[in-house]
Amino acid sequence: MKERPIRTTVIGSYPFPSWLEHASRDLDAFGRDEIAEMQDDAVIAAIHDQVSAGLDVITDGEQTRFDFNLSFYGYMEGISLESASPRRWGPPAHDQRGKHAITGEIRAPRGLGTVEEYERLKRLAPEGPVLKASVPGPFTMSGRLTPNDQYTDRYAITEAFVPIVRKEIEGLVAAGCREITVDEPSMSCYAYKEDTRRFVDIFNRTVEPVVGKCRLSTHLCFGNYKGHAVGYRRLKPMFPDFLDFAVDEMHVEMANREFAEIEMIGTIAERMDVAVGVIDVKSYYIETAEDVADRVRLCLEHAPADRLSVAPDCGLSQTARWAAKKKLRAMVEGADRVRDRR
Ligand SMILES: [Zn+2]
Repeated sequence: MKERPIRTTVIGSYPFPSWLEHASRDLDAFGRDEIAEMQDDAVIAAIHDQVSAGLDVITDGEQTRFDFNLSFYGYMEGISLESASPRRWGPPAHDQRGKHAITGEIRAPRGLGTVEEYERLKRLAPEGPVLKASVPGPFTMSGRLTPNDQYTDRYAITEAFVPIVRKEIEGLVAAGCREITVDEPSMSCYAYKEDTRRFVDIFNRTVEPVVGKCRLSTHLCFGNYKGHAVGYRRLKPMFPDFLDFAVDEMHVEMANREFAEIEMIGTIAERMDVAVGVIDVKSYYIETAEDVADRVRLCLEHAPADRLSVAPDCGLSQTARWAAKKKLRAMVEGADRVRDRR
């Protein structure tokens, strides 16, 4: 069970400090110890912002994934670095991201780095908030790789990631992590055109070894790379099949869609806890605490407080840090107002 009604949580990512982005363009200018110190400093900044906002659940803000070699794909064997961007000019969006080529057997003998991330978070975070780790799911991971003769389509690549992600979450549980999100935004983005039963099967086989051993959740959104959506932004194609996901909490994007299909959270809450996106990470309109309180009250018309968590729509990495800070504070204050009936 979660600790309290209307708990306040986040999706994994948080904006990088400007100095980190600047430094990551020329990492060769730094020694190994300096890079390790930089990683700690960035996580300390993300922890600080989340703790001072008053969140019940925090992450490391995915602050150490700032360089290709430090990202998941940098941990992998059997792939070669991202190909040139298919579109190099014009408005920034997901179609400017190249894909990685598969050059051998897809393996991650050293894992994907999330256990080290969790150990760092545990070392640097204060007592109090729940520490959550986020791992992308196999279908989402597969989307950045180009199929070849050995892995002939996206599902074949996905299958190669199932044991890799499974091992990662088992490692997190062994390290003492009590709350894990397996992010599968690609499943929510493409539910409208793919076999949703197949998604459920992939997801549940991935998490099977840790079910009941930690609090498991998933994050379903419609894309936020460079602040853009890529999915058909409706929950309908996912349900009822996604109710069979073996998770304790399901997160859905709502604020940016102006709470369309809000009644669906009642259906989800019959099976599991539901975390609702009440903060629009794409808009620079800064929600007030009262805006948030109104949104929480709307959620309570459909789902009971002890089943409800509130969160931003997605990770905050594509939102400026000054705005992210204000939005998180408003979210916590708004949830407090409803919980305490102020
Ligand atoms: Zn998202």
